[in-house]
Amino acid sequence: MKIIKCLFCSKPTSINKINIKKKINGKVVTLTNAPVYYCEKCKETFISKEAQDVLIAIREKNLDKKNVLFNYEDLKKL
Ligand SMILES: [Zn+2]
Repeated sequence: MKIIKCLFCSKPTSINKINIKKKINGKVVTLTNAPVYYCEKCKETFISKEAQDVLIAIREKNLDKKNVLFNYEDLKKL
């Protein structure tokens, strides 16, 4: 993953691993260990393209029908 700049202050962000909760098809799905960008100065978190892609894959493949808890590491190759 490449480092991006903060959308607010333009300082380089760091990569954090967090649990993302997202509503998909009306259900709250949790993606654990998902990489996000974090700006220490602004205390802002930005979802990464990689994590976003996994959330889109969960929705498109209807994986939420079977499960609502996913680990990013298991799904990133989808
Ligand atoms: Zn910032």
